[in-house]
Amino acid sequence: MTEEEVPPYAAGCMKCELAGQRRRMVWGEGNPGAPVFILLDNPGAREDKDGQAFVCGTRDTLQQGLRETGIALDQIYVSYLLKCRPIRAYDKPAARAACSPHLAFQLERQKPRILLGLGNTVVQELYQSEEKDVKSLRGRWHDYEGIPAVFSYHPLAVRRRPVLMRYLLEDLALVREKLMVLAP
Ligand code: SF4
Repeated sequence: MTEEEVPPYAAGCMKCELAGQRRRMVWGEGNPGAPVFILLDNPGAREDKDGQAFVCGTRDTLQQGLRETGIALDQIYVSYLLKCRPIRAYDKPAARAACSPHLAFQLERQKPRILLGLGNTVVQELYQSEEKDVKSLRGRWHDYEGIPAVFSYHPLAVRRRPVLMRYLLEDLALVREKLMVLAP
C-alpha cells in the first residue's frame, strides 16, 4: 500500500514530546478515499523505516485477516492515534491528546464509511475511558462521531494469542458485510 504524504499543515509537528524521538512522521497508508479507516495505536518499526522491507507482524496478520474475509486492499486506509513512533518512555495521555486533532482532521477530510479500531489503546482513547476494552465491545456495531465503528484485537495480540484470530475474522466479516450493503 502506498504511504500518504504528511499534509503541509502537519509537517514538522512539534505538538508533543515524540517530535524529539521520531525518525519521521507516518501519516497513513492506503487509499485515502477508501470506505474503511483502520486505526492502530502508533506506527511500528516497519512503518518507521521508510522503504525498509522487513517482516512486520501487525501488517502480516492484518493482511491475512483481510484476505481471509475478502476485503480488498483498495477498500482500506490505515492510520494511527500517534503519527510518530515512540522510541522511549513518554507521557502517553499528553501525546494522544496532542495528536488527536490530526486524526480528527483525517476523519473530517476522508469521511470514511466504516471505522475499524484495533486494540484496547484505540478503544480507550476514542471513548476517553480506561474502562472500555475490545473484549466487551467487539462483535457488534458502535458509533464513533457518526461513523459506524467496529473494534477488534490488535494484530500483534492476535499473533501472540492465535486463539484470538477467530474473533478478528468475525469482526472483519462484520466490516465486509457492511461494505456489501454500502456498495453502489
Ligand atoms: S505524535 Fe502527533 S502530536 Fe506528537 S509530534 Fe507526532 S504528529 Fe505531532
